[in-house]
Amino acid sequence: MTNLVTISFSIFNQVQGVVCAFSTRKAEGAISAGPFAQLNLGNHKFDKKENIEYNRSLFFKHHHVEPQTVVFPGQIHSANIRFVNQPGIYPDTDALVTDKRNLFLTVQTADCFPVFLVEPQKRVIALIHAGWRGLVQDIVRHTIELMTTNLAVNPQMILAAIGPGLQAECFEVNADVYQKFPEKFRFSHRENSKRYIDLSGFIKEELMTYGVRNDFIEVSDQCSMCREDLFFSYRRDGEKSGRMMGILGICG
Ligand SMILES: [Zn+2]
Repeated sequence: MTNLVTISFSIFNQVQGVVCAFSTRKAEGAISAGPFAQLNLGNHKFDKKENIEYNRSLFFKHHHVEPQTVVFPGQIHSANIRFVNQPGIYPDTDALVTDKRNLFLTVQTADCFPVFLVEPQKRVIALIHAGWRGLVQDIVRHTIELMTTNLAVNPQMILAAIGPGLQAECFEVNADVYQKFPEKFRFSHRENSKRYIDLSGFIKEELMTYGVRNDFIEVSDQCSMCREDLFFSYRRDGEKSGRMMGILGICG
């Protein structure tokens, strides 16, 4: 028997057929060990491929998703968006958009933020891999533009959830990254002159700038670095860090 702990977002409860979840490392029956324990869903370079495949099958089964209906982006920290209507692996892609039912978008993270978007009327969905590099290249704007321009979505109808990730108190950056963000989302400690960015706050502001309503955005305050019991963190664990997975689709 498998018992997976997953994060869900109540903002999507009102939409019939939505499957939306973000994994945690906690899962009875998952087989990754050491730094990858338990439910590692990515990082083929350092964990065994067969472990990851097995763990993914547990995660998909838990959400009643058939593995052959899943879309995987080959993430490169870019602002490359893809409209998809077929399952499979899409290289060099950091955001996926679809209007197809029973097609499940995924994202893998270990500090970056998963951003889930659902337009309930037209049933258009998007899933963004949001790290600082993609964000400064306007990945949020490009994704919403694809939805509005190509799929006639009204941004005011979009429901959004920003998942767990590296929160402001833990996202220390160098001067170069620091100056790329608006002042509102920058913090520094006078005592040690360390610099921090509130990436999650920046994502929320970006969503609102491009038309998403404030009260339609759910934001997780959970930190991937602080919650070692729940999450993998590249910042904390280095290259031997596992990956969480976000999944989003509409059944029916
Ligand atoms: Zn933290």
